[in-house]
Amino acid sequence: MAELETQQGGLAVPDGWTYAPAPESTDIVRIAERYGHYVGGEWLEASEIYETIAPRDESPLATIGQATKADVENAVAAARNAYADGWSSLPGSERAKYLFRIARILQERAREFAVLESLNGGKPIKESRDVDVPLAAAHFFYYAGWADKLEYAFPNRRPRPVGVAGQIIPWNFPLLMLAWKVAPALACGNTVVLKPAETTPLTALLFCDVLRQAELPPGVVNIVTGDGRTGAALVESEGVDKIAFTGSTEVGKAIQRQLAGSGKKLTLELGGKAANIVFDDCALDQAVEGIVNGIYFNQGHVCCAGSRLFVQESIYEPLVEKLKRRLTTLRVGDPLDKNTDVGAINSAMQLEKIKELVASGEEEGAEIYQPPCVLPEKGYWFAPTVFTNVAQSYRIAQEEIFGPVLSVLTFRTPDEAVEKANNTPYGLSAGVWTEKGSRILWMAQRLRAGVVWANTYNRFDPTSPFGGYKESGFGREGGRHGLEPYLRFDD
Ligand code: NDP
Repeated sequence: MAELETQQGGLAVPDGWTYAPAPESTDIVRIAERYGHYVGGEWLEASEIYETIAPRDESPLATIGQATKADVENAVAAARNAYADGWSSLPGSERAKYLFRIARILQERAREFAVLESLNGGKPIKESRDVDVPLAAAHFFYYAGWADKLEYAFPNRRPRPVGVAGQIIPWNFPLLMLAWKVAPALACGNTVVLKPAETTPLTALLFCDVLRQAELPPGVVNIVTGDGRTGAALVESEGVDKIAFTGSTEVGKAIQRQLAGSGKKLTLELGGKAANIVFDDCALDQAVEGIVNGIYFNQGHVCCAGSRLFVQESIYEPLVEKLKRRLTTLRVGDPLDKNTDVGAINSAMQLEKIKELVASGEEEGAEIYQPPCVLPEKGYWFAPTVFTNVAQSYRIAQEEIFGPVLSVLTFRTPDEAVEKANNTPYGLSAGVWTEKGSRILWMAQRLRAGVVWANTYNRFDPTSPFGGYKESGFGREGGRHGLEPYLRFDD
C-alpha cells in the first residue's frame, strides 16, 4: 500500500493512492438484438424502431420499438380485457401472491437488473445494486401486503380499482419508477400500460420476463416503448382511466391541460430545486457527506436532489473548504466499476442542458469549482461542480439542472433560511442539518416541501409517501397514501 502522508489538519491521507479497477462483469445480462412491445403477455413486433445506447461509451445496446398510436391502443385494449376478465375481481390475497412473487424474483435476479440499469442509464453500479434494485423489490413486497387490506386502509369507504392505468416514467430511476407505479396499481386491482423513457427502456423490458416467471395473467401489465409521442398517445387514449406521470414540469403541465375535464384521474411527480439547509450547530462532517449524497447521487439526475445548499454564514468558510476537499475524492468514471461514485450523464441531450446552465452560472457571475478529474473520452460526462457566490436570481439557483451541479447560498437566521428555501416554484423536498430537534420541527412545519429530511438526505422507503407541492406536482407515491390514486370510492 502507498505511504500515508500527514496533512496540515493532522488527518492521515494516502499519497498517490489510487483504486485498482473493479469492473462488474456484464456476462450475467443477455440483451436481445431487438425488442418489440409487451402486450397481452406476448411480444409484438414493432413497426417503427430506434436504437438504445450505453451512455458510458455511446455503444449501441439494442433496437427498441417506437410504439405508434395503434400499438398504444392495442396495449390499452389488452389491459381493459385483463381488467374485465378477472383481475379486478380477484381477491386481494390472490393479487398479493403475484406481487410477492414479482418481489422475490426481482431479488433473485438483482445482479442482472443492476448491471443492466447501469449499462443503459449510466448510473454507478453501487447505486443500482444497493439502492435502485433493492428498493424496487421492497415496493412490491410492501404493496403486496396492502392488496388484501384495502378495506382497513380506507375503512367505511368501499375502495375499488380505477380501471386501466397509463403510466409514464423518466430515465433517472427506470426500474424503481416502474416499481413505484406498477406495485400500487396492481395491489389495488388495476391493470397497467407503462411507457419507460426513450433512453432507458431495457430494465422495463427485462421486467416483462419477471412477469412471465411470476405467471401474471396476460394483459395485466403491458409495456410499450417509444419517445414522447408514445407517451402522448397513452395520455390521449380514451380507454385509460388514470394517468400517472413522473418527469419534467413542462410535460406535466401539458398533460394536466390535456386531461382537464376528461374525468381521468391524474398524479404528477415533477421537478424540484430542493434546499439543503445547514445550521452552524450541525455535525459538519456528517453534513458534508449529506450534501455530497444530496447532489452527486445518480449524477444529480434526481428530482429531489439537494441542488441549492443554504449554509449559515458563520460556518460558510469551513464548510465550503471541507466540501471542496471531499469533492477531490469522488471517483468519476465507468458506471460498471464498483468504486465509481459519479457515473455517466444519461444522454447527449441532458449533457447539453447541464453545460448550458453551467455556462449561464459563470456568465451571471457565480464562481465555479470542479475538482481535478480525468473524464473518459467517449460517452457523456460532467465533473462534480460547486458554484459559490450565487445570487438567488441566477438561473442556476432557480432552474432544475438535473446534473451534478450544486449552488451554494447563505443565510443568517432560521426565518431567512425558510424564506429563501421556499422562494422557488417547486416544492418536492428539503434537508435540514442541526443538532436541535426543536429546530428541525420548526423548520419542517414551515418548509413548503413534500419531504423534509433531517440530518440525512435522499432516504427512500416504500412505507413513506413521496410527492410535491406547487410545480413539483400533486398526488403521493409510497405508503398508504400511494394507494389512493389507484382507487375510487364512489358506489
Ligand atoms: P420528460 O418530462 O420529457 O420525460 C418524462 C417521460 O415523459 C418520458 O417517458 C418521456 O418520453 C415522456 N414524455 C415526453 N413528452 C411527453 C408528452 N408530450 N406526453 C406524454 N409523455 C411524454 O423529461 P426529459 O426526459 O425530456 O427531461 C427533461 C428535463 O426534465 C430534465 O432535464 C429534468 O430537468 C426534468 N426531469 C425531471 C424528472 C423528475 O423526476 N422530476 C425526471 C426526468 C426529467 P421520452 O423519454 O421519450 O422523452
